[in-house]
Amino acid sequence: MYKVRAYSAESSESDLSPVTIERRNLEDTDVQMEILYCGICHSDLHQLKNDFGVTVYPIVPGHEIVGRITKIGPKVTKFKLGDLAAVGCIVDSCGKCEYCESNLEQFCDEGAIFSFNSPDKHTGGVTFGGFSDSYVCDEKYVFHMPESLDPAAGAPLLCAGITVYSPLKHWQAGSGKKVGILGIGGLGHVAIKMAKAMGAHVVVFTSSPSKIEDAKRLGADEAVLSTDADQMNKYARGLHLILDTVSAKHDVNTYLNLLRHDGSVVLVGLPPEPLEVGAFSVVSGRRSFSGSNIGGIAETQEMLDFCAERNITAEIELIKIQEVNKAMERLEKGDVKYRFVIDMASLKYE
Ligand SMILES: [Zn+2]
Ligand SMILES: [Zn+2]
Repeated sequence: MYKVRAYSAESSESDLSPVTIERRNLEDTDVQMEILYCGICHSDLHQLKNDFGVTVYPIVPGHEIVGRITKIGPKVTKFKLGDLAAVGCIVDSCGKCEYCESNLEQFCDEGAIFSFNSPDKHTGGVTFGGFSDSYVCDEKYVFHMPESLDPAAGAPLLCAGITVYSPLKHWQAGSGKKVGILGIGGLGHVAIKMAKAMGAHVVVFTSSPSKIEDAKRLGADEAVLSTDADQMNKYARGLHLILDTVSAKHDVNTYLNLLRHDGSVVLVGLPPEPLEVGAFSVVSGRRSFSGSNIGGIAETQEMLDFCAERNITAEIELIKIQEVNKAMERLEKGDVKYRFVIDMASLKYE
């Protein structure tokens, strides 16, 4: 084990503060990276506050990790020293179930191991995330971060990016398709860029008048104020797919009714309460209400390469780690355009 600087929280009531944690010494196929940047995802905040009831303290969050390879195990083949690399949400899985064998590690029968707050098979404790200066991971779960992407603005692709790329691809967003994006936040703003790059006609729905212009600037063909019934009525039975990125309670029936037949509203946000689906919202037009959760390892690399070819990154506010508690407060209020990323060089000055 070796010592690593990190930021952790001791309980759901406490702030993040500097600590020293331990990471495992490298095994044969492990790589070690110096973390350069780590994005702040809404699920970091949920886990810090124990909103899902499963948090083990102390917790070190962070799963949008970009760094440079500083050490490799003797059997590593994918990476060499100095490579730009990335780690996302998943750092281990059984490797042999039906899902792992079909590149869907996120649905592993034994449960995927996540980059933080998951049982760590190597140490017997829990995994510690990217709010730290170093990470160790089996190379199988590490990505090549394209050098052409800005590594700070690219960090949010590791969770926000794959979370929207996977369903857009699965539900075949592309040329000839009208795709709705519900909500413009960390997920929604990247989804607009990706759906547009896939060739879809993109319609954004937002309840904030102030975000209408921003949606268009981000590449949306149309932006609709969801609180204006007249505007909404124009889109009835008009869309093939709607990606729902909203993490608060909302009426999904309104959006199911905007679908063409066989269309889906796909939830990627995490509202804490159950959502109600009316029978006629789905039986009419054979519509579906579905969900999607991150993506597999191969698909995440594919997404990074897709973004590199089209120069897609997130819009970020770069902060120092000493500002992380303030950033969490602002994130809770939705006060960020559109993702906080921590410049991990700031951790060196602790
Ligand atoms: Zn996330
Ligand atoms: Zn598995």
